[in-house]
Amino acid sequence: MESQLRTELFVGGKFASARSGETLASVNPHDGSTLAEVSMAGAADVQAAVESASAAFPRWSRASAAERGRLLLALADAIEANAGPLAQLESLDTGHPLRDTRGLDVPRTAATFRYFGGMADKHEGSVIPVDPGFLNYTLRQPIGIVGQIVPWNFPLMFTSWKMAPALAAGNCVILKPSELTPLTSLKIAELMAEVGFPPGVVSILPGTGAGAGAAIVAHPQIAKLSFTGSTAVGRSIASAAGTQLKRLQLELGGKGANIVFADADLDEAVNGAAFAIFHNQGQACIAGSRILVHESIADAFLEKLLRLARSIRLGNPLDARTEMGPLTSLEHRDRVLRYVGVAREQGSEVLCGGVAPDREELARGYYVEPTLVTARPADRVAQEEVFGPFAVVMRFEDDETALSIANGTTYGLGAGLWTRDLQRAHRFASALRSGMVWINCYKRANPGSPFGGVGSSGYGREMGFEVMREYTEVKSVWVNVDASIPPYYPR
Ligand code: NAD
Repeated sequence: MESQLRTELFVGGKFASARSGETLASVNPHDGSTLAEVSMAGAADVQAAVESASAAFPRWSRASAAERGRLLLALADAIEANAGPLAQLESLDTGHPLRDTRGLDVPRTAATFRYFGGMADKHEGSVIPVDPGFLNYTLRQPIGIVGQIVPWNFPLMFTSWKMAPALAAGNCVILKPSELTPLTSLKIAELMAEVGFPPGVVSILPGTGAGAGAAIVAHPQIAKLSFTGSTAVGRSIASAAGTQLKRLQLELGGKGANIVFADADLDEAVNGAAFAIFHNQGQACIAGSRILVHESIADAFLEKLLRLARSIRLGNPLDARTEMGPLTSLEHRDRVLRYVGVAREQGSEVLCGGVAPDREELARGYYVEPTLVTARPADRVAQEEVFGPFAVVMRFEDDETALSIANGTTYGLGAGLWTRDLQRAHRFASALRSGMVWINCYKRANPGSPFGGVGSSGYGREMGFEVMREYTEVKSVWVNVDASIPPYYPR
């Protein structure tokens, strides 16, 4: 990979400026400096991407599945070969600590492309036992041109979550990264061109939601939309997609409950709770942002959790010792800090954090100290997604109350529980209203395991065989295999 930053749109296998000539600034959240001016796509660029995808689709969709898989596997290898520069770029653009982008984001991105590279020629239709004299089988066919819109919290990983299954199934893809973090997806485009993806199969269009995003949603030739982002924007996209009857997959916000029972291994639960809310500065849809703890162990648990939270090393994401970096944008940092005010107004006690760190070397960055506040289940801070290093702590007295608090928001994405009681663990796994449940762990994910939510967290699933259903249309084929069967109107 060249060391040069890619800052132009990727359409038709080439990098080129936006037709309007407009750009947007990609900012380093550690110090507010501009990393790059990136071309900003608009409706005319979406149109060009659709035209190049339409031209590429017939060949790509009919290519052998093994060939599509081979390209995805080659891309996974190329990502691994460029792991260092990719991790560095992701840390610069997002503020994620380098140890995470190196240890998690880049390997998971490669693993996802590799998994779906393997999936391409293993995703089968079926033969259905119907009436005697007939053969009935299903074909799983690609949908066509897919529009994919992603947020800024895991930009590199989301290129793989979105693109890999869609491409494995034979679709063409137009992906819009967030305007805040476009750089690594453009690097992925460069690697895709290098390993030989045909022109037009993938377009990467950095741009705003109101510009390129809305144009993707509205374009009549884009047959399916896959959106990851806020619930508010998800709702507006669902309305627009509904009038056009576009297929839609929505991965939206969350307010994950992390329940610590009296019989939990306390140290593991403390570590798990801290990871669940502070990893990636809490900017994760599945963050464990509501910590529910049994009253009998609450004091001991909190003492340990507060000690751990106060010891987390904030710093420049590029410093290998840094455990927490800045939030990705200034606007978002201010939003998170405003929630501290909301908490106070509602009578919460701020147990730790709640402020930007008072350190000269971090003063220009968008940092927030790890923050824990007390709350009651109906408080705004216990109901609304804050999306930062900010968790509410609530005490409960019995299992029934814990379940009702956990299920007491409109969201339903991820939830965790810490207990040694097997029966309780499975009872809760079944009763929690959420797409994912972690028992004595939190935030585990794997390309083979379904990922998604219910309620205000959206619908549809990423990953595994489930996501292949999202990116294919099923066709049922009937064959009369018995000549003695009379036609409907025998004469
Ligand atoms: P956002 O909804 O503001 O933006 C997400 C993407 O949508 C961006 O690319 C943005 O440019 C685009 N967009 C905005 N308005 C649009 C419009 N009208 N039409 C088309 N596109 C539009 O979200 P964000 O602030 O970037 O990300 C944070 C949110 O994402 C949080 O709510 C978080 O929970 C959610 N998220 C969900 C998952 C999941 O898998 N469920 C994963 C990560 C993040």
